[in-house]
Amino acid sequence: MSKNQTTEVASSPAFSSEVLIKKVMERYQALFDSNMLGIAATDFQDTILDANDAFLSIIGYTREDLKAGKLTWSTISPNKYDDVDIQKITELLAHKTIVPFEKEYTHKDGHTVPVLVGAEAFDAHISYGVSFALDISELKELERKKDDFIGMVSHDLKTPLSIMKLYSNFLETSIKEGASTEELLESANEISNQIDKLNILITDLLNMARYQAHEHAFPVSAIDVTECAKKVVSDLSLVHNRKIVFQGEKSVYVIGNDERLSQVVMNLVNNAVRYSDDDTEIVVSVRVLNNHACIQVQDFGMGIRKEDQERIFDRYYRINHADDYADIGAGIGLYVCKEIVRYHKGRIYVESELGKGSTFTIEVPLIERK
Ligand code: ADP
Repeated sequence: MSKNQTTEVASSPAFSSEVLIKKVMERYQALFDSNMLGIAATDFQDTILDANDAFLSIIGYTREDLKAGKLTWSTISPNKYDDVDIQKITELLAHKTIVPFEKEYTHKDGHTVPVLVGAEAFDAHISYGVSFALDISELKELERKKDDFIGMVSHDLKTPLSIMKLYSNFLETSIKEGASTEELLESANEISNQIDKLNILITDLLNMARYQAHEHAFPVSAIDVTECAKKVVSDLSLVHNRKIVFQGEKSVYVIGNDERLSQVVMNLVNNAVRYSDDDTEIVVSVRVLNNHACIQVQDFGMGIRKEDQERIFDRYYRINHADDYADIGAGIGLYVCKEIVRYHKGRIYVESELGKGSTFTIEVPLIERK
């Protein structure tokens, strides 16, 4: 609804505001009070007669602002929507209802809020009715991240492929020209590195797809976290040719899924490898703390700024590294870790200092002794 409505419905029969509000309330009281949706009662002039708390909170106004008449459609509807609003009012005049559509409102502090809005008129003269609004900021942010993500993944997939193509051409020529075994091995190694990178990315994508499809109802049993972490350490030490140390001997039992928990530890160790220098070690430890199995993966690498520490667990979140520590990744690994740990009724967090390194901690409740 907007300022343009004023002219469109000026011929509607006069109702007092109180009567209008009462009629609207009778019909929408339960929904209005539930605050699941922003609802505003309107005479389809510029005035907003009443609004529920959900509506007010979307645009940042108070009930006092509303009572003082500070809240009008022209204040909250940005000018760029004037044409759309006129079109929607025409729709309202013709059908007494507006099919929900996306637009923006101007918040009291000046920023714009993406909303899904609709409206319904109550009488043949379109003289009063309600407007509905749903804040879709989060959805829009997710859409934006998804677009960035697709762009980034396409780029990330293409880069190793191009490099592989280059090296395989080079390998072909080298073989034809009888190059030394050393030269041939160098090209083969580079191709193998690029395959590893693609593997990380594709595994992340597959995990992500699985979680999106809610296929993470995996079977659980009593598992030994020490055993699980030790196995990851020995496997990844071979893969990465890095010093990965394990600390903590005792068996520590939790209820969980062996494969999934290993996947979390594996993800953390892989990240530790990617975001630290080759000559630094990585420490994986398991201990018991406050009735929880506490698994830690510590590196002495680049570290993470305070403001990024919580956000790195968000879907698609990546830090833009000016340096070339890890040139591939989709910002999914830690999100999947968080989901798996949540499924185990545990929590995951990071403590880190820029330039010094990071310690990721997973806490999962121990098996209860009865
Ligand atoms: P990605 O595949 O991009 O690494 P993740 O979800 O695994 O996605 O990690 C998100 C971001 O968190 C990474 O882009 C990286 O900037 C940061 N990060 C993760 N682990 C570490 C670490 N051990 N040290 C420094 N930064 C890290």
